[in-house]
Amino acid sequence: MRAVLVAGNWKMHGSLAANQALLDALKARLGSRDGIGYAVCSPFPYLYQVATSLAGSAISWGAQNLSEHDVGAYTGEVSGAMLREFGCRYVIVGHSERRGLYGETDQQVAAKFMAAQRAGLTPILCVGETLEQRDRGDTQAVVGRQLEAVLNSAGVSAIENAAIAYEPVWAIGTGKTATPAQAQGAHEYIRGLVAGRDKSLAAGLSILYGGSVKPDNARELFAMPDVDGGLIGGAALVADDFVAICEAGATH
Ligand code: PEP
Repeated sequence: MRAVLVAGNWKMHGSLAANQALLDALKARLGSRDGIGYAVCSPFPYLYQVATSLAGSAISWGAQNLSEHDVGAYTGEVSGAMLREFGCRYVIVGHSERRGLYGETDQQVAAKFMAAQRAGLTPILCVGETLEQRDRGDTQAVVGRQLEAVLNSAGVSAIENAAIAYEPVWAIGTGKTATPAQAQGAHEYIRGLVAGRDKSLAAGLSILYGGSVKPDNARELFAMPDVDGGLIGGAALVADDFVAICEAGATH
């Protein structure tokens, strides 16, 4: 059975007080369960708060970005080793907001993916098409290009310590969710691409869906055979919603 992961992406939201209330609620309500992992990915300044609050709990934590460089004169950047040094487990790479707003290229995302693994972190690689690309029938071409950039640079074996998040750009923060069939189609395609290089790694790969996952649609999305959890934005900031989504993941 593949590991299910439900990861929250807080984006640039939070304050010490709001985070504490959220973390305390999650800690009280999410216990460890076989076959499912939970994680929260906070902004950099709050990682220490997250790490100390979640110590000893069933919830892991991660960052939302890292530098592709290991060390050096890169003002404003944060390396994988810095994250790892105080216990970070996951890091999101290639989120569509990083690609779209900050111009991260497929090659840069691949470099970040490899930097994360060099530091002992598990990258959550985001891939996904815009609405325009979907309407043109280019979903597979776009997702394939984004994924292959990483597979070609890192090698397929790198997939063993990674998760992929299929996040159609048109569904992120818009309230429009991919239908379970649309999500399944993209996830199956992603798994197939990896299987073309290594069948057993593909079978064990966790592929998360992200894009307006809410308590009322999580169960039907997570019921799809190739949907192994979710990357959750807006709903990860509301304890009741995130817990409900995690519970839907636990029944996958
Ligand atoms: C995201 O930020 O990765 C995301 C999926 O956001 P939302 O759930 O708000 O669409």
